[in-house]
Amino acid sequence: MSVSFEDLCLSRELLDAVKDMGFEEPSPIQILAVPPLLAGRDALGQAQTGTGKTAAFGLPVLEKVIAGQGVQALVLCPTRELAIQVAEELNRLAARKRGVVILPIYGGQFIERQIRALDKGAQVVVGTPGRVMDHLRRGTLRPDGLTCLVLDEADEMLDMGFREDIEAILEQCPADCQRVLFSATMPAPILELAKRFLREPEMLSIARKMLTVPAIEQTYYEVRPYQKMDALCRVLDSQGFRKALVFCSTKRGVDEVCIHLQQRGYQADGLHGDLAQPQRDRVMQRFRAEGVDILVATDVAARGIDVDDVDAVINYDMPHDVEKYVHRIGRTGRAGRPGSAFTFVTLREHYKLRDIIRCTRAHIKQGRLPTLRDVDNIRTTRLLDEVRRTVEEGSLDRWLLLVEEFLAERFQEGGVTGRDMSAALLKLLMQRDFGKQDSADAPDVFAVEARRPAAAQEGGLSRGGQGAAGRRRERRNDAPMRALRLSVGHAHKVSPRELVGAIAGECGISSRHIGAIDIRKQFSVVEVAEELAEDVLAVFSRGVSICGVRVSAQPDEGGAEGHFPRKAGKFGPRRPRSGFYAKKTRGSAAGRREEEPSAGRDRPRS
Ligand code: ADP
Ligand code: MG
Repeated sequence: MSVSFEDLCLSRELLDAVKDMGFEEPSPIQILAVPPLLAGRDALGQAQTGTGKTAAFGLPVLEKVIAGQGVQALVLCPTRELAIQVAEELNRLAARKRGVVILPIYGGQFIERQIRALDKGAQVVVGTPGRVMDHLRRGTLRPDGLTCLVLDEADEMLDMGFREDIEAILEQCPADCQRVLFSATMPAPILELAKRFLREPEMLSIARKMLTVPAIEQTYYEVRPYQKMDALCRVLDSQGFRKALVFCSTKRGVDEVCIHLQQRGYQADGLHGDLAQPQRDRVMQRFRAEGVDILVATDVAARGIDVDDVDAVINYDMPHDVEKYVHRIGRTGRAGRPGSAFTFVTLREHYKLRDIIRCTRAHIKQGRLPTLRDVDNIRTTRLLDEVRRTVEEGSLDRWLLLVEEFLAERFQEGGVTGRDMSAALLKLLMQRDFGKQDSADAPDVFAVEARRPAAAQEGGLSRGGQGAAGRRRERRNDAPMRALRLSVGHAHKVSPRELVGAIAGECGISSRHIGAIDIRKQFSVVEVAEELAEDVLAVFSRGVSICGVRVSAQPDEGGAEGHFPRKAGKFGPRRPRSGFYAKKTRGSAAGRREEEPSAGRDRPRS
């Protein structure tokens, strides 16, 4: 049923590289894209961020590329960061293929250096459209040898104003060159581009199937990536599972989580594809025999697990797709037993959660992570339960004798009662097992999180009210702010109200976290609370429309006061305070923008 990388007819070098990278099996878009791309077909692919598109086009490109010859494949990406990321991923994929050079070229880097690198020879070039056009004009990059042209994140490139450059590049590449276009969305301009430049393209999109999930209780928690480990411990501590299965998306993740849990005193073990069979068997034996309470695993490793009494599945990392989610949670609630599933969702992964809910109609309720105080209360209750059971079981004669002796002695001296003694014993036991109990009063890592207003969510995903307001107001004035530049301005008839509405609504932050707003002709600079800036950027990178235009956001270098820097960056041109885009010196506005080292956006990675 499942497709392996071997099934994709790739050469040994690539298969080994994929293995080195820790990929256990191809993602759906890779399964879909690799065969037609290997066959030389043009393709139009739609897939969300983080679905593995780079390898989907990278593997066929690298399979065909011939070492030692000129540039054969050209990949266009919207930003410097993406070009670098894609080039790095391709480099890893090509690691076992000798003599294949992958060269990223982008604005903001000395062009002379790139010219020298191109001179020395590269087989695959990954570049931003503006800079690629520059090299084509100079003749330092020649299109005649191209056998494959890939447009990665084509919708983004169009939004950034690269349309002319892209069309010019498409026109220059040889008639028989394979053309591949990937885009997260399929607006009309993309479809037009595909119609004009692709020949009978293979349509690649991951069909959304309806899936049924087992009737178990499902909960999700909103967490920041760095909070996951604490969140995991809290969930484990508060629920008291006997057997829990924790899913991570990579082997490294499995190792890390496993080591952390062990360090924190949990009986945990890890399972992933790198373990030899005897090792795996040992781990499984211990898990079955209750020597291990928590098994941390990747999807592939978990496939072979046949344990009936798993109380809970915890998605430490969200699964790549809906089917995996269903598979994972199907590991609990077996054979008529109760089971529950918990999923950690970061802000940038909300769309995945929405997909899961849409495709399964499952009711996944939002959970509130237990506070340290909750965890303590739960532990104490559990201990007291044990005490009660022990009393009921009897056979306490020997201990009663000791207690009576102790009390008789102390009672005369200082008036110690049975109650005092029980309380002291409880305190001692709790401290011995869980450390100092005063920690319940310590500031909670999740406290700020819990006070945050709900993120923009679709039906049913409302946040359990936390309500601890009050603290927010005082933070406003002294909270550090970050200036973000949005690609919408007076020219688009945008007003501060719309900006605030869109940012607050789309990013699920309160308008209180939005500071000064400066609207210019073609863009605006908006201050948002530093701690939320990354999340806002992430949401914008997934596509936000304001006043009918799709808007991109990026950090503005000027900081909170002077919005515009005196120098855009080390090699960047001076940026006048206004009218910058009106005075184009070369290429498109966005083409210019990529010259500025500050302009690159950080893309969400998953
Ligand atoms: P996209 O371009 O669709 O946003 P990427 O190609 O950047 O996604 O991949 C996202 C992440 O997933 C990367 O870290 C990549 O190394 C990883 N990845 C890609 N394919 C697989 C796979 N088959 N198994 C596990 N991880 C993968
Ligand atoms: Mg990508």
